[in-house]
Amino acid sequence: MMSANQPDDWAMHDTGQAPDAGVEGALDAPVPMAGIRGALTKNAPLAKLVWFKSGGNADWLFEPADRADLKLFIDQLAGAMPVMALGLGSNLIIRDGGVPGVVIRLGKPFADVAVGADHVVMCGGGAHGILVSSTARDAGVAGLEFLRGIPGTVGGFVRMNGGAYGNETADVLIDCDVIMPGGELITLPAGDLEYTYRHSALPERGVVVSARFQGEAGDPEAIGAEMDRIAEARENSQPIRSKTGGSTFKNPDGHKAWELVDAAGCRGLTLGGAQVSEKHTNFMINTGGATSADIEGLGEEVRARVYQNSGVQLEWEIKRVGRP
Ligand SMILES: Cc1cc2nc3c(=O)[nH]c(=O)nc-3n(C[C@H](O)[C@H](O)[C@H](O)COP(=O)(O)OP(=O)(O)OC[C@H]3O[C@@H](n4cnc5c(N)ncnc54)[C@H](O)[C@@H]3O)c2cc1C
Repeated sequence: MMSANQPDDWAMHDTGQAPDAGVEGALDAPVPMAGIRGALTKNAPLAKLVWFKSGGNADWLFEPADRADLKLFIDQLAGAMPVMALGLGSNLIIRDGGVPGVVIRLGKPFADVAVGADHVVMCGGGAHGILVSSTARDAGVAGLEFLRGIPGTVGGFVRMNGGAYGNETADVLIDCDVIMPGGELITLPAGDLEYTYRHSALPERGVVVSARFQGEAGDPEAIGAEMDRIAEARENSQPIRSKTGGSTFKNPDGHKAWELVDAAGCRGLTLGGAQVSEKHTNFMINTGGATSADIEGLGEEVRARVYQNSGVQLEWEIKRVGRP
């Protein structure tokens, strides 16, 4: 069992797994609901909430009514169970045995985007990338076009340092508000997140409830044209209409992951219902009835073949969470 005082620094060594704490008996642990207004579901299916459309259930799924509700909930939980935030599940494998503890899904109450003075764009942690970039465009704020093509939420971008076409979240994030496992609400400046490629030092069980991005003055028409260009480029190069998890592996220094996968002969490779995309070899897809074990196993097979072929150890970009 987890100790309520488990430090967060274990998360610095990213194993791609959810905290394996509180697994035993997590379902039966009391979840304090006094004064809580959001929706709490026991043993909640997650497959329908993630892009791969696979995986098991959350012991608990909590959908807070608003920020105060989430803060109270986490405060009352007092670290008794692991907590994991879920965005659109566009970079996640939820393992078939489900996720221990509480999965927190930020819905509409966290989806607002507004533009303030000095081209600062203020976003809820659950706001979608496309809404962020289109709201900025309408207000004549440039610099956030790249979020148009990343199918995730602001919380996911902040954690994953989401990026595309030469831009990444670290370039535009001013700061973010995070509810910590103890229930306290803190503001973390971007500089504290120690951003590197597709990685941040955001505390693993912290939930990003809002963030501010710095844009610059731009012409809405030119911004819109760039967003259209990005949308078209994606349509042509990525299996964006498939059940997928985005880029499977990080690009190793000096290499492109897709080229290494292709060179190792893995284009179209299958395992059960999982397949390496024919369209983009750094994407895996669920062709229908894939389990998460198929998808993760295929990823491991690709890593092994790439290593054998090129000597490069690919590192997972997709987060893999939960019980096998
Ligand atoms: C078709 C496709 C194309 C993609 N293209 C790109 C791309 O070009 N560039 C790129 O960077 N990524 C890309 N991705 C991957 C994915 O969209 C990004 O990683 C995105 O940042 C994930 O956001 P999400 O909200 O869906 O997070 P999820 O996938 O739900 O979660 C990812 C991680 O973020 C954490 N998280 C989510 N919300 C919060 C929160 N509120 N607070 C704290 N932690 C949170 C989760 O716990 C998990 O660890 C693509 C994915 C797909 C399916």
